[in-house]
Amino acid sequence: MSDQKRVLVTGAGGFIGHHLVTYLKGKGYWVRGVDVKSPEFEATKADEFELLDLRRWDNCLQATRGVDQVYALAADMGGMGFISAHHAQILHNNALINLHTLEAARLNAVSRYLYTSSACIYPEHLQEEANVVPLKEEDAYPAAPQDAYGWEKLISERLCMHYYEDYGMETRTVRFHNIFGPLGTWEGGREKAPAAMCRKIAMSHITGDPVIEVWGDGEQTRSFCYVDDCVEGIYRLMQSDFRDPLNLGQDRMISINELVDMVAGAAGVDVTRRHIDGPQGVRGRNSDNTLLREVLDWEPRISLEDGLARTYRWISEQVMAKYGKRELAEV
Ligand code: NAD
Repeated sequence: MSDQKRVLVTGAGGFIGHHLVTYLKGKGYWVRGVDVKSPEFEATKADEFELLDLRRWDNCLQATRGVDQVYALAADMGGMGFISAHHAQILHNNALINLHTLEAARLNAVSRYLYTSSACIYPEHLQEEANVVPLKEEDAYPAAPQDAYGWEKLISERLCMHYYEDYGMETRTVRFHNIFGPLGTWEGGREKAPAAMCRKIAMSHITGDPVIEVWGDGEQTRSFCYVDDCVEGIYRLMQSDFRDPLNLGQDRMISINELVDMVAGAAGVDVTRRHIDGPQGVRGRNSDNTLLREVLDWEPRISLEDGLARTYRWISEQVMAKYGKRELAEV
């Protein structure tokens, strides 16, 4: 067998996992991808892709066999609409996935394990204003995440920490802040805000109806990070010797209304926002990237305008392919 490093990416049928497989293949790794579904929009570049439900212990043992490193991305997740409506399912499924995958990796003598956490672990009371103070890693405690999704992420972060303390297993933990880009879910209820806005604006382009629905008053704020920066950041963290949780996101905060206007700008259309009731999550959230810069000597560099233009282009192609002809016939 060659000395090519062997890695496992869980959640490789999903948005970030699929991009990460492509990135790692570009770096020369042998990659096994595992997920309950194949990538939806493009064939995987993984050397081996196994359809396995990682809530099951035996499947986790199978998934982690014979690899040096694990990038653990599998999760039952979605945008605000999904996360705020499925607390029991999310906590149950994600706890099983993470408890079993980490322990199976230990038994299979995996040397490094990267866990993908989320900005959703931060306490709700630090995110009550739109003009929020950016969140530092140490702000996580005393813990008070808004949703079950964040609580489970926090517990799994701690599990990784204890696996290092008790077993000496090298673990890395990254906290993503709203990752977006092409080849991600753009309809069906699990899509996140940037993809949803791209879809709505692409649809308005087809139908000629300029009205775009926005949940709440649209003044809630977030930062958004393009997926190419995300996978590079994940990789850099895996190579580093940093064992504590680390933010990975952009630190440019915008409102959802501004996001709509930027996507409309990328599409070259004028839209009118209609504000409706809907889940909004915390009022404001931004990443403090001080530690990220210090640890990785790097930070995300793809501008929001550039990332949104690339994302809009891809989503509008999907919308046109699926709905274009039918809608145009109806107009
Ligand atoms: P995604 O939903 O596109 O990918 C997750 C994948 O996990 C899916 O393909 C899903 O089928 C798979 N999965 C779910 N249950 C499984 C099971 N029982 N066994 C095997 N696979 C299973 O989400 P993503 O955006 O690519 O997120 C990847 C990771 O990053 C997740 O852990 C997510 O919580 C985390 N994260 C993402 C963001 C973001 O903005 N996208 C933000 C914070 C954290």
